[in-house]
Amino acid sequence: MKALMKLQRGDGYVDLREVENPSPAPDEVLVRVKRAGVCGTDIHILHDEFPKAKPPFILGHEFSGIIEAVGKEVESWKTGDRVVSETTAYSCGACRYCQTGDTQLCPERKAYGYVFNGGFAEYVVIKANLIHRLPDTVNFSEGALCEPLACCTHAALERVQLQPHEIALVTGPGAIGLIMLQVVRSTGARVILCGLDSDRERLNLGGELGADHLVNVLKEDLTSKVMDLTKGYGVDKAFECAGTAAATRDCIRLTRKGGTLIQVGLFGKPVELPFEEIAFKELTVVGSFAQKKSSWDHGLKLLADGKVMTGPLVSGEYPLDRWKEAFEKSERRVGVKFLLYPAP
Ligand SMILES: [Zn+2]
Ligand SMILES: [Zn+2]
Repeated sequence: MKALMKLQRGDGYVDLREVENPSPAPDEVLVRVKRAGVCGTDIHILHDEFPKAKPPFILGHEFSGIIEAVGKEVESWKTGDRVVSETTAYSCGACRYCQTGDTQLCPERKAYGYVFNGGFAEYVVIKANLIHRLPDTVNFSEGALCEPLACCTHAALERVQLQPHEIALVTGPGAIGLIMLQVVRSTGARVILCGLDSDRERLNLGGELGADHLVNVLKEDLTSKVMDLTKGYGVDKAFECAGTAAATRDCIRLTRKGGTLIQVGLFGKPVELPFEEIAFKELTVVGSFAQKKSSWDHGLKLLADGKVMTGPLVSGEYPLDRWKEAFEKSERRVGVKFLLYPAP
């Protein structure tokens, strides 16, 4: 089969290769990939900016597909089932994190698409206990965004509890921000979504997806807008999804005293922040990283109930042969989410 691989360490070294079709171990299923999303992590892997990557491997950790074959110990799945997969391919099962279901924190965690072979290929083999059924009403393109969705449910439903009377700030209208706002809205809380000039189309999409207020921080004064909307207090919770120091500084400044900052975005380098404000304002700062099994259950329920829509985030779909276009567009942020599909 054809597969898009990271071949070795270093900038570049990503290319299509002809590889042996995989076959499932007794506890695995073979999935025929239908759609696989290009993620910021894939761009970091391309440029060798992701130390956890262990080449050579097939890229792609956000995918949907159809079960083509099951290992001989697998009883709960059958050929033809429409599925998505968690990304934590291996966790030790024995550490204190695994024992409480927090497999995303396991020191031994290894993921599909940067250690184990991922979904930028015609087929991928997956541990049967990591598979989730795609709701009938959700197509494969929408399903390919279940991984970023699970990251958002982990942040907004598992790491913190939102109340219906609360108001939240979401910074950065990329795929994560545009899904995060919908997960926050599903709790009844209101959302202020902010972005830059270059985000104009994404901000508008955020409005269509349910954001109550949109702010272009280069054209409007975010501080006065937030203070107007919160009687001068600031937001109850701020979800930092841009991964920039400026956005985190906005969140620290605009979260009310006693409120909560949830850091989801990654800076990729040390940054300077007014950390002292956390003491003065008695802020709670919460980190949120990746997702775990329960995050997928939350996300798939929201998709099935129509409370979150991922389809509008798909800006283009390319056959595997044209992966470079999808990667370039993702890197230039000309759309939100680009998907790859293996030739039919
Ligand atoms: Zn991703
Ligand atoms: Zn563990």
